[in-house]
Amino acid sequence: MKQTEQMERSEQVEPDEQLEQVAQVERVEWIGHNEYIERIDTFPMIHRLKAPYGDANGYKEYRTCFLFRITTRSGVEGWGECIDWLPTLEQGFRQRIIPFLLGKPVLDRMQLVKTVEKWHLRAAAGVSMALTEIAAKMGGFSVTELWGGKWREQVPVYASFQSYTDREDWSDESLRLVEKAVDAGYGMVKVKTGGKPFMEDEAHIVRILRTLEGKGRVAVDANQSYDVAEAERWLRVFTRWDNILWFEEPLPLDQTAGYRMLRETLPVPIAGGENLAGGSAFLPLLRENAVDIIQPDVMHVKGIDEYRSILELGRYFGIRVSPHAYDGVLSRFYAILAQSCLSPWSKMKEADIEPVEWDVMENPFNRLILLSPEAGMVRLPDGPGLGVELDLEMMEAFRWDGTPYA
Ligand code: MG
Repeated sequence: MKQTEQMERSEQVEPDEQLEQVAQVERVEWIGHNEYIERIDTFPMIHRLKAPYGDANGYKEYRTCFLFRITTRSGVEGWGECIDWLPTLEQGFRQRIIPFLLGKPVLDRMQLVKTVEKWHLRAAAGVSMALTEIAAKMGGFSVTELWGGKWREQVPVYASFQSYTDREDWSDESLRLVEKAVDAGYGMVKVKTGGKPFMEDEAHIVRILRTLEGKGRVAVDANQSYDVAEAERWLRVFTRWDNILWFEEPLPLDQTAGYRMLRETLPVPIAGGENLAGGSAFLPLLRENAVDIIQPDVMHVKGIDEYRSILELGRYFGIRVSPHAYDGVLSRFYAILAQSCLSPWSKMKEADIEPVEWDVMENPFNRLILLSPEAGMVRLPDGPGLGVELDLEMMEAFRWDGTPYA
């Protein structure tokens, strides 16, 4: 368009319309520049288990949950979650993180998260969740829309067990719980090994594989408890059964060469990475072709943005990504949202996206978000932000009273 034509057209706009246009521009700028963090409330929670359960790392006596709510000047709310010893989190938030965040622009998420990361990495993950939800709500979007939209309306999950108890008949009890989950519609489960003598663990896993033959697939998680020789003893089981999903963290995770050896000798996918703290920590495993599946956890890396870049990293390397999500209900929901926005790993329509972990043990905090799988699938809700509400009454009922615990 010629300049003279342009001038003529702009002159044709009525003065009132011009004012309206200017007002709209100003409103957009106001949201961006003047919306700041006004208030942060913390919700530390604890639940003592009726009976301890565990894995190769030992028994759990309790479960905890730490959520916090960021509220902006105009009243937009976003929730974050992090995991650590509750006294550490409470003190860290009160003394450093909350004073730092108050008054900061809510849309400067990346910089704010980077600063908090220096003090407490897992708190940074929580802050990134809360500020992502706020950004989505401010724009009137769901979080998945903010991220560019969903590829799918449902995401598969697998039932995750802590197989060990202090009961004599721990193996019978484990099998009973696994069968119950499969009857409830889960087609995939994860069970533990590495915490008992090899023959006892082997007998347990074989019972489960036999019981689920034709009905369900089984991931076997050793929580980094073996060396290469001990891990290779599983060859005789893994060659006999074809309903094995993956072998998870057989070795300490820094033993990249050992992982590469197991990947060559064992006939099942090798998975790992739940405790790695960021994208760069995954690089040795990926560059060295040491695993078939990476398992980042939203709460263990430096935020939901970092987490999503790890998902993409997996795609770039042609390695599957099956999120670890055992430690929190909100972070698990974020893992599901991120998985719904991830491009398919395969053209096979029946399994185009990797499953997310779903804790099925005694843990009341799983119910803080009302969302339950049907036939092993979680259907994504609609609505601005997360599209779900957290149960505030329950948060008060389980609130940690400040009493020290081990
Ligand atoms: Mg694990």
